[in-house]
Amino acid sequence: MNKSINILLLCDIVILGDVMRRDKINYYLDIAESVAERGTCLRRNFGAIIVNHDEIVSTGYVGAPRGRKNCCDLKYCMREKLKVPRGERYELCRSVHAEQNAIISAERRDMLGSTLYLVGINYDDGSYVENARPCAMCKRMIINAGIKQVVVRDTKDEYTIIDVSEFIENDETLEGVLGY
Ligand SMILES: [Zn+2]
Ligand SMILES: [Zn+2]
Repeated sequence: MNKSINILLLCDIVILGDVMRRDKINYYLDIAESVAERGTCLRRNFGAIIVNHDEIVSTGYVGAPRGRKNCCDLKYCMREKLKVPRGERYELCRSVHAEQNAIISAERRDMLGSTLYLVGINYDDGSYVENARPCAMCKRMIINAGIKQVVVRDTKDEYTIIDVSEFIENDETLEGVLGY
């Protein structure tokens, strides 16, 4: 009698274990979200991690080039001050983007066929950036880094998977399309 009860309890624990366990994609997105928390912008912060063969190759967050003042040091973000729409006029952005910092921290051979996980957080209220995507400049670097896909967090549990071949096929620089 006691024995069967013990077995039942054990089963419950196993089932509970499966339910509670974070799936792998959200596990990597959770890490990218922690990376984003180190970002320095007063508008939006992004965190990126590059993963290949289940190993984290590199991480990157939004920040001014080393030694230069960050948005959070200046107490303003130039793009926010000038109300620049997202996806436009990145020459006004002081920062090296999260994706760019992750890419320059890695060797190309380690990025070939890899996945870049990206999480964007609005500075104001800490909400996720709606329909977040790499900007036109980051797309170029992602293509040439040999990264295969980009996974972007939509909510705590939902995400969008983008094949980098889409960035190659949909070349916004041919259309003069702004934004993302
Ligand atoms: Zn900024
Ligand atoms: Zn970018």
